[in-house]
Amino acid sequence: MEKIIIAIDGFSSTGKSTVAKQVAKALNYIYVDTGAMYRAVTYFALENDFIGENVFNSEELINQLDDINITFKFNTDLGFAEVYLNGKNIEANIRTLEVSQYVSPIATLSEVRRKLVEQQQLMGKDKGIVMDGRDIGTVVFPNAALKLFMTASAETRAKRRYKELLERGHNASYAEVLENVTTRDHIDSTREDSPLAKAKDAIEIDNSNLSLDEQFEKILQLAKITLEGLE
Ligand code: C5P
Repeated sequence: MEKIIIAIDGFSSTGKSTVAKQVAKALNYIYVDTGAMYRAVTYFALENDFIGENVFNSEELINQLDDINITFKFNTDLGFAEVYLNGKNIEANIRTLEVSQYVSPIATLSEVRRKLVEQQQLMGKDKGIVMDGRDIGTVVFPNAALKLFMTASAETRAKRRYKELLERGHNASYAEVLENVTTRDHIDSTREDSPLAKAKDAIEIDNSNLSLDEQFEKILQLAKITLEGLE
């Protein structure tokens, strides 16, 4: 059976990764969380003091990009791939509010984007992949067979992210999370290089009022229709 690329883009915390993981599993495809890659670079920048309060030493970070090796390794217990930076599992380190606060400025850097997009395109060369991010349908795979653009109100998204952070034992207030979500939306959709935008041929899905099951069924259906169309 022919395989396709499924590109899922959208604003922060629209539940892209949850549904992308479910769809990849159902189709036996590989799931790639590109946000994790930008988060990994941000974690590296924080660890090396290239970014922080009133600090943004982008030149030094760019000089050291060749020293950043990002890989994914499937964790059978968790059922998804965890992200590694230079061989170290940093899955838990990249989900903090601190990394969320600095990731969007890092993602404006063209040199960072070029490096990560190249790696993402390589990962998708054999198709059979579900990739989520901000520029997948517009820049990484403009010819993807199925493109989705997920939306939900900022409050719905912040509530979900807040709940997630509390469940992971992080300390954050709802107001901080809402502020982070709206600031990231703004930076991501107004940056010069590959801004977050709905591809012309993407299908928009507002999931504010969809349950996880409804959303999954809807997207799986779209994937099946796309696959049937290829036969
Ligand atoms: O998807 P997630 O919320 O983890 O992404 C974190 C950040 O990484 C986004 O807010 C955005 O700044 C950046 N990003 C991006 N392009 C992608 C994926 C993520 O610029 N393809």
